[in-house]
Amino acid sequence: MDAIKHLQDAIRLATVSHADPYETDWTPFREFVDFMAEAYPLIHEKMEVKLINDFALIYRWPGTSSEAKPILLTAHYDVVAASDEDWEHPPFSGHDDGDKIWGRGTLDDKSSLVAIMEAATSLLEAEYVPPYDIYFSFGFDEEVGGTLGASGIARYFQEEDISFRYVLDEGGAVTEGKSLGVDAELAMIGIAEKGNNSFRFLFRGEEGHSSTPPTSTAVGKMAAFIHDVENNPLPLRMTSTLEATLKALAPYKAGVEGFILSRPKLFAPLISRILVKNRQTSAMLRSSIAFTMTEAGSGHNILPRTATCVANIRVLQGDTVDGVLDHLKGLGHEYEIVDEILVNEATSVSDVEGEGMTYTKEIIGKVYPAAVAMPYLMVGGTDSRYYDKVADNAYRFLPLKLSSAELDTMHGRGEHISHENYFKMIEFYTEFLLNLE
Ligand SMILES: [Zn+2]
Repeated sequence: MDAIKHLQDAIRLATVSHADPYETDWTPFREFVDFMAEAYPLIHEKMEVKLINDFALIYRWPGTSSEAKPILLTAHYDVVAASDEDWEHPPFSGHDDGDKIWGRGTLDDKSSLVAIMEAATSLLEAEYVPPYDIYFSFGFDEEVGGTLGASGIARYFQEEDISFRYVLDEGGAVTEGKSLGVDAELAMIGIAEKGNNSFRFLFRGEEGHSSTPPTSTAVGKMAAFIHDVENNPLPLRMTSTLEATLKALAPYKAGVEGFILSRPKLFAPLISRILVKNRQTSAMLRSSIAFTMTEAGSGHNILPRTATCVANIRVLQGDTVDGVLDHLKGLGHEYEIVDEILVNEATSVSDVEGEGMTYTKEIIGKVYPAAVAMPYLMVGGTDSRYYDKVADNAYRFLPLKLSSAELDTMHGRGEHISHENYFKMIEFYTEFLLNLE
């Protein structure tokens, strides 16, 4: 079966991306670009292919009308690292045990890329012509920020004056609704992403011997800052995205609970008090700040001149990076920001009643009839944030049905995809490409 073999071949190329591009072994990436041409000759014959920054791929599938605005399906083929330890089958084996295919990228996100290509190939074989242009774009550094891949692709679209009615990217999946207290399966469609930021803060102290310390040291100042930040979280806020999620959930909740969720604005204080108790839902209610790295000192009895810490800041819609930094300044500590490691505002919020949302829900209804499709806020990031400038809307949905155990294998150990899931995914993209109007 070609589709299985193609996914196995894709998994066997260890396209591991690193934050520092000099650390990346680019050989498998080059091989991946070759693999695409070899595995999908018909697509390479019938579509326009463009390579951006050596490894990002863009395909243009010409439609009947070149006047109408096109759509974009996007995925990424880089993966996070994996060691052989504790994997039933090695992460780059692409092993097929007859029921599942194993390896890094089988869920995130090579399966999606390969499934799109499989769907397009069979439609081309059937001589299907879409009503308007369809683009595919495949990034190669999503896991480390997308600064070369998706960002380069988006710049190309801007230069060429190509804009899209909407983008379909990876994101939420079909999951058990139990975590949200409903019996139905939920198909979660991401309509917005928080902004992902990291800053390094530096605190100064007096140098010298620790036997004669001053009243305040660099480490002490840093610790006081961290303590204050953790004890002064940003205010809770009900966003339009969370409102949309709750309203969509309401019909599946009984009694008072359903009544409350159907009126999220009215009951915002009550709902917030409940949701803030859970880490997952709390992240949807406010901009969050987490300290992830600290550094100070070179000897156990030497006062360090400086201490630094890194804060990862996830900015919620309605807040800005500057606004959060002002909040920190307002706590009255003395520091310098010495490194802006990552700066990203929160994305725009896609229209929950937009054409792309309605259409995605319609196709979910065909392929996963038992699932209830609903919008949500992604607290993690995807490549589609780069397409904010070239697309009216972005919908983030991975057409797979995943248990919470399977979800944990993404970026973890034992990542695999069942044949059933994989073929459902191809079916989803086939239906998606075939029913466009
Ligand atoms: Zn991914």
